[in-house]
Amino acid sequence: MKSYTLVRGDMSSIVLFGPPGAGKGTQATAIMEKTGLPQVSTGDMLRSALSKGTKLGLEAKGYMEAGDLVPDRLILSLIEERLKEEDAKNGVLFDGFPRTILQAESLAKITKVSMVISIEVPDDNIVERIVGRRMDSETGEIYHIKFKPAPSDISDRLIQRKDDTEETVRSRLNAYHSQTAPLADYYSNLGVLEKVNGDRNIIDVTNSILELLV
Ligand code: ADP
Repeated sequence: MKSYTLVRGDMSSIVLFGPPGAGKGTQATAIMEKTGLPQVSTGDMLRSALSKGTKLGLEAKGYMEAGDLVPDRLILSLIEERLKEEDAKNGVLFDGFPRTILQAESLAKITKVSMVISIEVPDDNIVERIVGRRMDSETGEIYHIKFKPAPSDISDRLIQRKDDTEETVRSRLNAYHSQTAPLADYYSNLGVLEKVNGDRNIIDVTNSILELLV
């Protein structure tokens, strides 16, 4: 297997882990506030690269739209650049990364992962969560048509992610189970995995996560 050389440093980072739609992005805000670590979401970085029309964004596009994982080399080059930034020097909060064993092994070479917070949600609930997800195009705030309705005065600003359709969600779930879920054992063996029941309301999940961070 090919390995990648990334930047090295004295960082200690937290990983938010879980299936698509588990609430990683939602919970990231509270963790950032508590720890001061900046959020590094590979999904957001890919969508930004795509909207800017960069070469990497265009290469990633087909994989994302199909609900497949983007190749490790593209993800690792994004991460390498991001971790060189000043705000990342004391560690970051990873959201949606690592998603393969190779990504995790590459990450281990550049930063210490002090905790992996695994937000657990049964597959049966994922589709409803994702298909009902909406984003405020102005602020980036995430809502859900049933679980977290947006205020009615911003309803015309709400957008749905292109990959948030039922068919694509099923592919994303398959990719999660075959390529990403094995990371739970990887991090459990390293003694850093913390499981949180994500099948509860947002505040309860946040409180359980904050208890882990004291
Ligand atoms: P979700 O967790 O809801 O699936 P993300 O925004 O994290 O959504 O990711 C959206 C898409 O971006 C994924 O389906 C995948 O194609 C790609 N992606 C994001 N992060 C990674 C990663 N670390 N490795 C490979 N592909 C990724």
